[in-house]
Amino acid sequence: MTGLYIHIPFCAKKCGYCDFYSINYNINTVEKYVEFLCKKINNLKTVFDTVYFGGGTPSIIGAKNLCKILSCIKYKENAEITVEVNPKSYKKGFFDEIFCGGFNRISIGMQSANDSELKLLTRNHRLKDVQDTLNSAKNAGFENISLDLMIGIENQTIKSLQKSLEFCIKNDVKHLSCYMLKIEENTPFYSKNLNLPSEDETAQMYLYLCEFLKENGFFHYEISNFAKKGYQSRHNLIYWELGDYLGLGPSAHSFIKGKRYCYPNDINYFLDNKEYIYLSDGGDTYDYIMLGLRLKKGIDLNKVKNEVNEEFFEKAEKYIKLGYAVLENNIFSLNEKGFLIQNTILSDLLEEIK
Ligand code: SF4
Repeated sequence: MTGLYIHIPFCAKKCGYCDFYSINYNINTVEKYVEFLCKKINNLKTVFDTVYFGGGTPSIIGAKNLCKILSCIKYKENAEITVEVNPKSYKKGFFDEIFCGGFNRISIGMQSANDSELKLLTRNHRLKDVQDTLNSAKNAGFENISLDLMIGIENQTIKSLQKSLEFCIKNDVKHLSCYMLKIEENTPFYSKNLNLPSEDETAQMYLYLCEFLKENGFFHYEISNFAKKGYQSRHNLIYWELGDYLGLGPSAHSFIKGKRYCYPNDINYFLDNKEYIYLSDGGDTYDYIMLGLRLKKGIDLNKVKNEVNEEFFEKAEKYIKLGYAVLENNIFSLNEKGFLIQNTILSDLLEEIK
C-alpha cells in the first residue's frame, strides 16, 4: 500500500491551540501553490492506494483547486481519497464538485458539539455550521464521513462530551478521531491561564468515550480512532503499519523504502523546489513496537522475539497482570486503560530492544 499526503498550509485564522504549519489564506499564494503542486505531482510515477489532503484547511482553497490537484494524481480505482474540511471554510456547491471530482471521504474538524467549547477553542465555527456541513456532504453523495472530536477542553465535562458524542451518533458518521487537547509551547494557549480538566478527569472522559462508542457500534482500532465496520482510515493505517507514503508540502513527512524524510515548515522552501530532508532510517523493531501498540491489533511477539531482551517479556507480562494489556495467540496489545499510559508503557518496553 502506498499513500500520498498533500499538505494545504492555509487557514482563515489560527486557532489558539494549533501547532500545525499553516499561514494566512492569500489567493495569490494559493494559486502559485496549486500550480507548483500540479507540476510536482505530474512527475510522479507511483499509482497511489490512498490520497489525503490535510492541513491547514484544504477546503479553503476551493473545490476547483482541490479537483485540479487530484486530477494530476495517479491513483487506483478503489483508492480512498480524503479531504479535511473546516465547517466554515468552503463555498456553496463545494461538496457536489469534489464528489464529482473523485473525492470519496470527508474528515470534518468538528472538535465539539458545544458552542461554548468551540468558542473557548477559538474555532471559527459553531455547531450549526457542522450540521450544515454534514447535511451538504451527505446530499452530495458522501457517506464515508469522519469527525474530529477533542477531549480535555477548558470546562469540558462528561455531560458536555456526551452531547458531542450523541451528535455524532445522531448523524450516523462512520469514523471518529478523538484527540486530547495538548497545550504546545509555541501556541497562544501556552501563556493563557486555562481552566483545563485535570489529568484524571480527562482520563475519565477518554474511558467514557471509548465505552460510549463501543456501545454504539464503533470499533476502537487505534488509540485515538474509532470506526464502524469497513470504515477504518486506510490512509492512516499506512502510517501505523509502516507502509510507504509520500508527503508533499511544507511540514509534510514521508516514509519511503525504510527512510524518513520531511519538508521544513516553510512554504518558500517548498515552492523553491528544494528536496525533502532526510530525517532517519525507520521501519525497524523500534518503529514496529511504537506504532503497533497504538493499534488495537497490537504486535506479534514472534516478530520481535529475536530483537528484544528477556526483560521485554517480563515487562509485557507485568502490564497484562496490572490490567493494561492482553496477550492472545502471541499478539500483545494494549487495552483502553493501557492506551491512557501508552507513553509510560512504551518507554519501558523500548528500553529492552537489543
Ligand atoms: S483550522 Fe486546523 S490547521 Fe488551521 S489553525 Fe485551526 S486547528 Fe490549526
